[in-house]
Amino acid sequence: MSKVVIIGGGLIGTACAYYLSDSGWDVTIIERGEHGKGTSGGNCGLVCPSHVLPLAEPGVIGKTVKALFARNSPFSIKPRLDASLWSWLFHFARRCNERDMMEAARGIQPLLESSLAEYRRIIELEAMECEWERRGLLFAYRSSKQLDAFAATDRLLGSAFHCPARRLDGAALEALEPALRPGLAGGWYYEDDAHLRPDKLMSSWRRVLEARGVTIVEQCELRSILGNSTTARAIETTQGELSADAFVVATGALTPLLNTHLGCKIPIQPGKGYSLTMPRPAICPRIPMIFPETRVAVTPFQTGYRLGSIMEFSGYDTSLKPSRLQLLKTGAEPYLREPYRDPIEQEWYGWRPMTYDSLPIIDRSPRFKNVHIAAGHNMLGLSMAPATGKLVAQMLDGRTPFLDPRPYGVGRF
Ligand SMILES: Cc1cc2nc3c(=O)[nH]c(=O)nc-3n(C[C@H](O)[C@H](O)[C@H](O)COP(=O)(O)OP(=O)(O)OC[C@H]3O[C@@H](n4cnc5c(N)ncnc54)[C@H](O)[C@@H]3O)c2cc1C
Repeated sequence: MSKVVIIGGGLIGTACAYYLSDSGWDVTIIERGEHGKGTSGGNCGLVCPSHVLPLAEPGVIGKTVKALFARNSPFSIKPRLDASLWSWLFHFARRCNERDMMEAARGIQPLLESSLAEYRRIIELEAMECEWERRGLLFAYRSSKQLDAFAATDRLLGSAFHCPARRLDGAALEALEPALRPGLAGGWYYEDDAHLRPDKLMSSWRRVLEARGVTIVEQCELRSILGNSTTARAIETTQGELSADAFVVATGALTPLLNTHLGCKIPIQPGKGYSLTMPRPAICPRIPMIFPETRVAVTPFQTGYRLGSIMEFSGYDTSLKPSRLQLLKTGAEPYLREPYRDPIEQEWYGWRPMTYDSLPIIDRSPRFKNVHIAAGHNMLGLSMAPATGKLVAQMLDGRTPFLDPRPYGVGRF
């Protein structure tokens, strides 16, 4: 049996482990902290094929500059002398055009659609308890102008990506989701999206893996990759050396720290986001929602309730800023009859692994033919994990991939 070591016990490493063990590999995951406790545990839990469009779209630069100077903006960049950040921003700015937006979206969509189908299959097959529900995703607006402005995006999603939303006026919105305050302008409803509770997904996926014999080693950090000029033989970790036939690097936002070992420059910036988890309010929404005007997302789980948002480019900053957490509450207040409830059970931040083209990297490392990279899933790692794991397993097996992997190549940078 061939042996593979996966570095990183987040969603992506876990999904790779699942499909590789399915394929007959002897799998070990190493994780520098605790399995599933990084960005993968506290995110908003949205599995959203509606999020086809990349962050870099025409007009985004103007909006971003405005947001940078706005008070209480959910978007911020900490100014600093960091060549990788400025290079990232430069390349991001260059991609804010129609052609690059469409090209990225054509790469994002297959991962989203196939992941949704895979979740449905494996959650049932493995009896995974993760509060999976398919109730769609609602975008709710206070301003009619903003509601109308989204019509162009919706037309594009409908015509180019077969992913149209149902437009709702204020009354229809209130009837559909009575947890919303009366008097909102309306909304757009993506009925095919789903949601789940990410921490429960991670723990139940772990149980499935361990029952299959996958080894998970925690508090174990990769230090370097050992091998000759083309092939990795082993990795050196904080718990000693581990040899294997193949390796998968699924280290999320921390991947650029391994650039020297991988023999390439991975342009991932940590996009810091925050969430608050609490018990379900008495008037709890039925449907997950995003309020695009404040950029706050609300996810009602069966056993809890989460507010999430914020995009901070502040490097690997580990502070949990109370002012940022407060923005989650104030961003939900104008929309919901009962926007939050005490006690807050978890105050959380995570680093989204942001590439400037919004596409992940799923490819062999340029340096070692038996080291693969699966990282850079931006704001959609939960929504893209199963397809990524399946693709990585097929690549390691040398099988024909079920979708075209070229958009995710590391050579594009
Ligand atoms: C506020 C917020 C809300 C979000 N909401 C959603 C959502 O609703 N839907 C969605 O699809 N996505 C969402 N995301 C994005 C999603 O959470 C990420 O894309 C996803 O978690 C990335 O998974 P990953 O496995 O690549 O990274 P991670 O979860 O960060 O896992 C990588 C793991 O690698 C480990 N590691 C790193 N370096 C080493 C090393 N050298 N040795 C050993 N281990 C190492 C880390 O400790 C970590 O556990 C959200 C993100 C945030 C911040």
